[in-house]
Amino acid sequence: ISPPPFETPPVGNLLIFVNPKSGAGRSLEVFNKQIASQLIAKNINYELIVTEGSGHACSIVKTRKDIYLFNAIVICSGDGLIFEVINGLLERPDRSEIIPRLPIGIVPSGSGNALLGSVLHTRKLPLEDGPFQQTACSIIQDLEALAFPVNLLHIETPEQHFGAFLSIGWGLLGDIDIESERFRRIFGSGRFAIGAVLRLLNLRTYRGRLSFLESGPSEPAQADPFRVYETTMPPPFEVVMKEPEPLERIPIIPDSKKEEMGDFWETRYLSSYGQIPRLNEAVPENWTIIEDEFVFVYVMSLSHISNKGYYVPQAGLVDDRIYLTYALKKDVTSKITLAKFLDALDHGRHNETQAFDFFKIIPVKSFRLEPIDSGSYIVVDGEDIKCKSIQATVTNLNMAVMAK
Ligand code: ADP
Ligand code: MG
Repeated sequence: ISPPPFETPPVGNLLIFVNPKSGAGRSLEVFNKQIASQLIAKNINYELIVTEGSGHACSIVKTRKDIYLFNAIVICSGDGLIFEVINGLLERPDRSEIIPRLPIGIVPSGSGNALLGSVLHTRKLPLEDGPFQQTACSIIQDLEALAFPVNLLHIETPEQHFGAFLSIGWGLLGDIDIESERFRRIFGSGRFAIGAVLRLLNLRTYRGRLSFLESGPSEPAQADPFRVYETTMPPPFEVVMKEPEPLERIPIIPDSKKEEMGDFWETRYLSSYGQIPRLNEAVPENWTIIEDEFVFVYVMSLSHISNKGYYVPQAGLVDDRIYLTYALKKDVTSKITLAKFLDALDHGRHNETQAFDFFKIIPVKSFRLEPIDSGSYIVVDGEDIKCKSIQATVTNLNMAVMAK
């Protein structure tokens, strides 16, 4: 449904992406039934783009010259489409001005909606399915919303530099994420549980080298999310859509002045963390190296692994660390223990018992993974990144995520 012509001036302008294949394939239906009519009733202008495939949304946000005319980008999908949009924005020469200031609104209709889950968790808002849907809709219903900064990760592979906001996985948890894709249509978010059972029956472990730079002692618990910003940003800015408020037009940097992606990250967003080596350089002496046989390596920047399950409850939206977790084959006593662990993980109870002391969690600033055995996937924010090795570092570039 497209908006009808306006009789009175519209009160805001949204760029909306709907992925018709996300989750159980009902995004377009959710949009048409629950969102479009509200936008029309509230006189909010929008441009609707139904994505035609992987990469479509990325190429649009990368090339649109009029991106400054939108108040927000709304994504009706899961984390995968948000990842695409952020990386499209990161390919623009004006990326550092746009990304922190153009908020992303999320209508959670994917099988994984961990970014919104994490933001709502920090806001102490309920995450159950019903209120979860409503929260997303209220962004639009109430015509105003808060946008929260969420820090981005810098990812380096032998082929490219890019950004991420959520996780890097390899081994068991990466395999489950990718191999459960084919159950998407039938099970929606239940696909992860089905995938877990299948993977456990035929457990694979992988040799690899894991190197990391530990972050300092942890800071006091970030009870009040508003406090988190004071150090890095002014209080959360309000996205008031009562009048169209296009972002200020920023001159496009000429091609000749474009930075290489690696330099962009290094000079602006990594320097405050000391010397972070490039992937093709040896790790410095203050890094720890573990070469062993792994069940999994999973690194989280945010609290939630899916909309309901939190993996690292202490993770903040904006902080100077990411959480490296792993399990070594020699520490896991049995498949039963592992099955119990996955079940506890699903309910956010994996940190509560001694039974899972094979599960290691270390706050780090940067880590590097070099698989020795092939056969697993390197998964970034739920997407299969086909690469031979990977390095990730927390940065102080923030994206803005709307949450009531
Ligand atoms: P889910 O949570 O269900 O996995 P995502 O938002 O993560 O949903 O989307 C998964 C993938 O779908 C992303 O890699 C995205 O690029 C891709 N995609 C986007 N539009 C389409 C489309 N029309 N058909 C197939 N895949 C698409
Ligand atoms: Mg974080």
